Amino acid sequence: MADIIQLLPDHVANQIAAGEVVQRPASVVKELLENAIDAGANSIKLIIKEAGKTLVQVIDNGKGMSVTDARLSFERHATSKIKTADDLFLLSTKGFRGEALASIAAIAHVELKSKQEDDEVGTCLVIEGSEVQSQEVVVTPKGTSIAVKNLFFNIPARRNFLKSNAVETRHIIDEFHRVALAHPNIEFVMYHNGSESFNLPESNYRQRIVNIFGTKTNEKLVPVNEETEVLTISGFVGKPEFAKKSRGEQFFFVNDRFIKSAYLNHAISSAFEGLLKDGAHASYFLNLKVNPQTIDINIHPTKTEIKFDDEHTLYAILRSAVKHSLGQFNIAPVLDFDR
Ligand code: ADP
Ligand code: MG
Repeated sequence: MADIIQLLPDHVANQIAAGEVVQRPASVVKELLENAIDAGANSIKLIIKEAGKTLVQVIDNGKGMSVTDARLSFERHATSKIKTADDLFLLSTKGFRGEALASIAAIAHVELKSKQEDDEVGTCLVIEGSEVQSQEVVVTPKGTSIAVKNLFFNIPARRNFLKSNAVETRHIIDEFHRVALAHPNIEFVMYHNGSESFNLPESNYRQRIVNIFGTKTNEKLVPVNEETEVLTISGFVGKPEFAKKSRGEQFFFVNDRFIKSAYLNHAISSAFEGLLKDGAHASYFLNLKVNPQTIDINIHPTKTEIKFDDEHTLYAILRSAVKHSLGQFNIAPVLDFDR
């Protein structure tokens, strides 16, 4: 009988992987911003045109790439961030799969410029639909600029599936907020269609929240701080009287990574029990630090869902910390038998 199995060519494999990693322009924004942070940048610029459909560009002042690494960065499973499977549980970087750039380059026109500190000149690489068009010497500042143009140019079905510019822009801004909130010590600027939409100077966490959500936010914020052996919590919850109908301002960061967790969200709403009007949602901006060995980040392509070893304990600590903070600010009854 004839053998019928064959290995897919790289560009086909990349395009398939891209389906998971890149759902919309906002996914590109997330991946590029995370790479800039992993590169140690302290100033990051995001440039968007037409809701990211024609251009998503991220410029950072991080460590840059060598000529060879620039080329390699677009190969699948090419990463500088982990070497062994064990490293997955010691992660201090956002990335580790080495899939983002390969996926993005499979479905867009990409121009990368990069220079390392000690190099005189940098490298400029153009790659379209996984095919390298050119790589040349270029004069460019230290750091990396990646411009992603014409997303899904070779997958019309995907391109047509994109939502209106308003909706896609909303998704981009959500990603931008998440990354900017996780890193108040980094300066972020965002331009859309040539005008500046956000300018977030390096600051502390409270100031970053206020810069994003407006000066009125300042008076709403109640600090939450707790340190236990398994979990450190820092951040803020919104006072109950400011709670909103929408869930817009709910942020959990675990080890500086934005995550979604219905379970932990429940811990917060239960701490707020009896304090919120019907249908209102508490706002929160909470940073959780846990031992990286007690979480698994590698369960979801976009890494927004993670698995905790001991969710129940985290739930209890979180709930009690939030209750305590609300109590201290005389928002909840001061008697609290949970502590
Ligand atoms: P991952 O982030 O999972 O390693 P990516 O495909 O996003 O995979 O990036 C591949 C590699 O390219 C990274 O490991 C890193 O070495 C390099 N790289 C990507 N973006 C940048 C950047 N902005 N600055 C410096 N190096 C980068
Ligand atoms: Mg990455």
